[in-house]
Amino acid sequence: MYILDVIPLRAIPRSHEQVLSYFSSAVVAVGAVIEAPLGKPGGKGSITGIVLRCATLRERKLQLRKGADFRLRPITRIIQPRACVSEIQLALVQWMSDYYWTPLGVALKTVLPPQFAAKQTGLQGIVDKKHPRGVILHVFPDRASLDWFVQQCSEHNQHSQRIDAVYHSDMSAAKRQVIWDGVASGIFQNIAGTRGSIFLPFQNIEQLIVHHEQSPYYKSWDQHPRYDTRAVAQRLAHLHKAPVIYESYVPSVQSYYYASRGSMKLRMPDEPTVAKPQSGPALEIIDLRRFDNDERIISPRLLAAIKSSQHAILYSNRRGFATAGLCPSCGHIYVCSNCQVPLKLHAQPPRFLCHQCGKLEPVPAYCPECGSAKVRLSGGGTQRLERLIQKQIPTATIMTLDADATPRYAAQQRTVHAFQTHEFQKCEKTPCILVCTAMGLKFADSLRAEIVAMVNLDTELAVPSYDSQERLLQTLDSLRRMSQNTYIIQTYRPDQETLVFHKSGTIELFYQKELELRRTYSYPPFVRFIRLSIRKSRETHAASDAQQLYERLVTQCNFLKKKLPDEMSQVRLFGPAPSPLPRIRGMYEYQIIISLGTTKRIIATSLLRIVPSSWTIDVDPRDII
Ligand SMILES: [Zn+2]
Ligand SMILES: [Zn+2]
Repeated sequence: MYILDVIPLRAIPRSHEQVLSYFSSAVVAVGAVIEAPLGKPGGKGSITGIVLRCATLRERKLQLRKGADFRLRPITRIIQPRACVSEIQLALVQWMSDYYWTPLGVALKTVLPPQFAAKQTGLQGIVDKKHPRGVILHVFPDRASLDWFVQQCSEHNQHSQRIDAVYHSDMSAAKRQVIWDGVASGIFQNIAGTRGSIFLPFQNIEQLIVHHEQSPYYKSWDQHPRYDTRAVAQRLAHLHKAPVIYESYVPSVQSYYYASRGSMKLRMPDEPTVAKPQSGPALEIIDLRRFDNDERIISPRLLAAIKSSQHAILYSNRRGFATAGLCPSCGHIYVCSNCQVPLKLHAQPPRFLCHQCGKLEPVPAYCPECGSAKVRLSGGGTQRLERLIQKQIPTATIMTLDADATPRYAAQQRTVHAFQTHEFQKCEKTPCILVCTAMGLKFADSLRAEIVAMVNLDTELAVPSYDSQERLLQTLDSLRRMSQNTYIIQTYRPDQETLVFHKSGTIELFYQKELELRRTYSYPPFVRFIRLSIRKSRETHAASDAQQLYERLVTQCNFLKKKLPDEMSQVRLFGPAPSPLPRIRGMYEYQIIISLGTTKRIIATSLLRIVPSSWTIDVDPRDII
């Protein structure tokens, strides 16, 4: 007789037991798929599950406490006798489930074979080899940078290697299954993929390289768990006893900090970039305060530069342009007095709202810095920008790269290709202009133009997030890499520090200053955040649910304070507050932020334990908005 520990493939709330035990008359491989009864004896309830452990009755009895309930039931049948996930994958999944506080069965789904649901039987099992070849895995944040890398490798034999397999989520399940089987049987040596590739059934990873580590796309935003690819990659490398290298032109402040303390290996590619401004394009900074109306969107200098060029890229941050808490006369940014995070303007009635702590502030009659009575920024957005260009340069060819015009990667690729090859098709002496949002930054490796312009730097900083300066520096660098000749930045604040650091190439100073600020105001990497969010079709329901959970969290904190006063003195709760994007697919979202300081894991666990399963839990959120 054997005892099987099984992970059911379903979402069991984390407050319940995540692993169930059953009897089996035969040995079953770890990673095999079984069916077993669930619920009342004699009932029809059943589960499909993956075997986590298989032990003899004798082995298990020694581990169990005296008097433990040992009335286990037998499994119903073995669906797939061969392993369909490896032991390393199971270890990775258990870590993710604990760290991101996700049901084990949900975390397990990230590593299942692509065709698991379609063909549950007849899966290609993992071929066990004694000495599998070491794999080098290259991970990329998006298709654009992955495709560029693969193309470079094949054209120029860069990295002195060929890529044997490419893996990304746009491939069909059948194609992904082929790669999955190949990885399981150890036939590939050099693999490149987007974030999902870290869940392939590797037998032996020799080296893991995380490219463009600063990218926001490394954080999972659309599936559970809300994992950070960089953290999971580190765990995966640890399980394989392999080194992991993080690469970036402008590393995230967090990675820079860890690297400076020696706990992370960071590589900055040796190319003309922010650290070597002298080898880059000519940088021109335009002070928008000198202009009025339309000239504040496209200054006379920018207009002249576009007119004299063949290719120009105009970057405009559309995110919350009209709602930025930004003085339209001097660029003063209104920040929350509690959190130092930029505020957002709400029109009716006019007031400022902090989306981190929920604090409401009246809109002052005059800007505290310049005395202007104007509050709302007018214009902005790619459509307004396009209309203005059309008016000023009627013969220009205008292309757009944003979520409305090109939501899918294939369309983005077509636009980028059409833009880059435009001059070869037509010989008109008129400019071809690409207007893009943050989507264009994904193509920073391949997109090139004589003129590149950031239309309004200040709106980048009015984003209500603690890391807006870091994002600005990264955006500035990506745009500089795209620019072949002239790089124009329009701003109300030509003297603002991050721009000065970028201009002078004193990137080290930027990190020092930013780390100092984050330490002072208790932001990552000095503290850890957890973001809790709830979505409801009625706003009042979302608000009252959030208020209820907030009160329960306060009670739980007070309870823990009696037992662990030192640890709990670091814990702070923010909110409840409406999310900055108040309606998402017709739903209203409210959020609560927990700042854990540097407390032990047990504190997070004690707080998350009381969060109902209808809430989304985001540990180490990329955005706290
Ligand atoms: Zn002002
Ligand atoms: Zn606040």
